[in-house]
Amino acid sequence: MNPVKNNQPPSYRGRFAPSPTGPLHFGSLVAALGSYLDARANHGEWLVRMEDLDQTREIKGSADEILRTLDRFGFKWEGEIIRQSRRTDAYAHALNVLNRDDLAYPCGCTRKEINIAARPGIESAAYPGTCRQGLRAGRKERAIRLRTFDNPSGFEDLIQGEVTQNLASDIGDFIIRRADGYHAYQLAVVVDDAWQDITHIVRGADLLLSTPRQIHLQQLLELPTPVYAHLPLAVDANGRKLSKQYKDAPVENRHPLPALLQALHHLGQPLPDERPTGIDDFWDWAISNWQLENVPAKPTLQPH
Ligand code: GLU
Repeated sequence: MNPVKNNQPPSYRGRFAPSPTGPLHFGSLVAALGSYLDARANHGEWLVRMEDLDQTREIKGSADEILRTLDRFGFKWEGEIIRQSRRTDAYAHALNVLNRDDLAYPCGCTRKEINIAARPGIESAAYPGTCRQGLRAGRKERAIRLRTFDNPSGFEDLIQGEVTQNLASDIGDFIIRRADGYHAYQLAVVVDDAWQDITHIVRGADLLLSTPRQIHLQQLLELPTPVYAHLPLAVDANGRKLSKQYKDAPVENRHPLPALLQALHHLGQPLPDERPTGIDDFWDWAISNWQLENVPAKPTLQPH
């Protein structure tokens, strides 16, 4: 049972959903802070979900390390922390529903075959639909794909504005269960957001173009679509997305305040004139001054 679930749908429930692939870094601190402040400023609830579905990418100990950092930084979450590694039955159930309604199909293609078939010489183009009508003779099922439709679909992001994609031509039928047997992130995140009654998703803009796929899944599974707000990505001084090295550098655990102030500044929020005396002081200021409409769509690079 979901411990925070009750009969009344919440008016605001947000979440932070880190993957335990390393310690909390600046980019994920920004996502945690933006989602937390928006929830608290709206008198909403805020949950943490550990997205440890893909155990091949998990770094041992990092789930606990992320939670320790959040706690040290003064984040307070509601209810129990859901771990995706324990939710396989729920994902399998959703997959059965999609299979039953012929919205999903087995695919026997290898990654290499897909790239060649999609556009010779060009990597990662839309899946060309090779197995849509059934597996070719002698092929074994590798992954399971979801059918997409050839029409523009869009949503209004609270920060990034209107986003439109034609899933069939931009993405193609996409994987919901991978060849290695793991359920795909797109499926798991949709199932969990609905199960936890999440109403508002505030997260990094690296996931902006995953959102039309998630809305497509919500519609096919008859689940509600939350409100979305995608935060500007953290970039380096030259405006480039943070390099792997810097991006993965853990936030300084022993000194939460400078990292929190930097993340708040990145989100376009005013900083207090006087340095907060401690974490509680920081949170009082940040929650009472939070304005989502001041969050820039693109990263701004003024130093402070
Ligand atoms: N687990 C994903 C990540 O760490 C975030 C998923 C989400 O917020 O929807 O990038």
